[in-house]
Amino acid sequence: MFQRHSKGRLANAEPFDQVMEENDLLAKNLEFLVDNARRIVEDPRLYHCRLHFGFLSLPRLGSWQIPLGRLVSSWQQGGLMAGCPRCGGRACVVGASGLLGAFRWWGVCPECRAVVRGRGRGPSLLWQLIEARIRSGASAGPLPGLTVSQALFRLAYTP
Ligand SMILES: [Zn+2]
Repeated sequence: MFQRHSKGRLANAEPFDQVMEENDLLAKNLEFLVDNARRIVEDPRLYHCRLHFGFLSLPRLGSWQIPLGRLVSSWQQGGLMAGCPRCGGRACVVGASGLLGAFRWWGVCPECRAVVRGRGRGPSLLWQLIEARIRSGASAGPLPGLTVSQALFRLAYTP
């Protein structure tokens, strides 16, 4: 799941605990984020909140970030869901990597309150991610998005 150098090191030198903290915050606050989907979509800094694992990676085509606002908006409408391998419920997909015939997805499960991973086949979920990427409005500008913890703070403590 991590992007690696050829020697197997983490590419972006992102502190590992920062990534783990982000996953944990996302899993524990998923319901809160979905409840606030409208506010996230309407606030550009919340919308463009960047998730380390919010991306779609297709072999030879590249890797594209998908902002929090687009993910939350899809989840609220029942999209970007996959069966949770832990509890059998519906997990919210954050990203995927692979080909139509066989890909890996990862996300957060509202029941397990944890990061979960699974394997998928067929175009449905990948296409939803491609559509999410196309509709994400990433060309809107270089406005820096907030981190997940900053976004949660803003949602919780500002009117
Ligand atoms: Zn689950």
